Amino acid sequence: MLAYTYISKGKFELTEKEKPVIQESRDAIVKITMASICSSDLHIKHGSVSKAIPGITVGHEMVGIVEETGDSVNNVKSGDRVTVNVETFCGECFFCKKGYVNNCTDKNGGWALGCRIDGGQTEYVRVPFADTGLNKIPDSVTDEQALFVGDVLATGYWATRISEITADDTVLIIGAGPTGICTLLCVMLKKPKQIIICEKDENRIKFVSDHYPDVKIVRPEEAEDYVMSNSSYGGADVVLEVAGSESTFELAWKCARPNSIVTIVALYDKAQVLPLPDMYGKNLIFKTGGVDGCECDEILKLIEQGKIDTTPLITHTYPLEQIGEAYELFENKQDGVIKVAIKP
Ligand SMILES: [Zn+2]
Ligand SMILES: [Zn+2]
Repeated sequence: MLAYTYISKGKFELTEKEKPVIQESRDAIVKITMASICSSDLHIKHGSVSKAIPGITVGHEMVGIVEETGDSVNNVKSGDRVTVNVETFCGECFFCKKGYVNNCTDKNGGWALGCRIDGGQTEYVRVPFADTGLNKIPDSVTDEQALFVGDVLATGYWATRISEITADDTVLIIGAGPTGICTLLCVMLKKPKQIIICEKDENRIKFVSDHYPDVKIVRPEEAEDYVMSNSSYGGADVVLEVAGSESTFELAWKCARPNSIVTIVALYDKAQVLPLPDMYGKNLIFKTGGVDGCECDEILKLIEQGKIDTTPLITHTYPLEQIGEAYELFENKQDGVIKVAIKP
């Protein structure tokens, strides 16, 4: 089968590999029907994910059909349409039992697929702990609708939950990339008083204003003044930082009102500074990620009910044979791309 493979820093290539087989009794083999490219894949390509192992098949956002299950798999069976979770988790350790599945202590716990073990930009994938890593897609939900459930949408859902949003809140979301938009969709379900999104990219600004006309949009250079003059108590009641740069990290705490929650969803390339003397008296509550991606069933229900729709994010579709071109487009943000779907 064809598999898009991490060869070395800066180099991914389509290679021919053997179809995976069941290795443990809790494994399943899934035939991929649709996959996507995530900015984390680009982080691997650029050599900034130290845990990524050369030779692995990349890709961790995918949906498919269960082909085969190990003897101890109970929740899914051959023929089921499923979403695949970006995180591998045992469901039994201290962290898993508390829902903190990102910190699962199993050797494959956390982000393994497409990083430390073969992922989904290919035809078949082996999923460890299939009972926790796969979720059945309701019949009325299409592959396109379910494509982001296991990764970017799970992230937006988790970030929204831990941000404790109420109906009176002004919520500021920094960054309108795919994860930012998924976060926006989940924040909208909480019906806060107003949502402000901060973005600098014209294409993304247009995407948000075309699809979500009630959301206020501000550019980074005007964001602080705008938030101060459009909120009641000296800043946003909740800030979600999804952009991941030094300036957006600073913006996040500066735009937050005293005693608010600042949720850091973004992954940074380097350490960020908390200037505590300047922040003294703001009494902020910081919450930091990795996503605990264990709410996929709830998310799939919301999609089934028509409450979340991420299909507009899929701006381009490519066959697996042309995945190199898809990367080129996604990496260089060409042709108004938000997300790319890959069909084996
Ligand atoms: Zn991802
Ligand atoms: Zn665990």
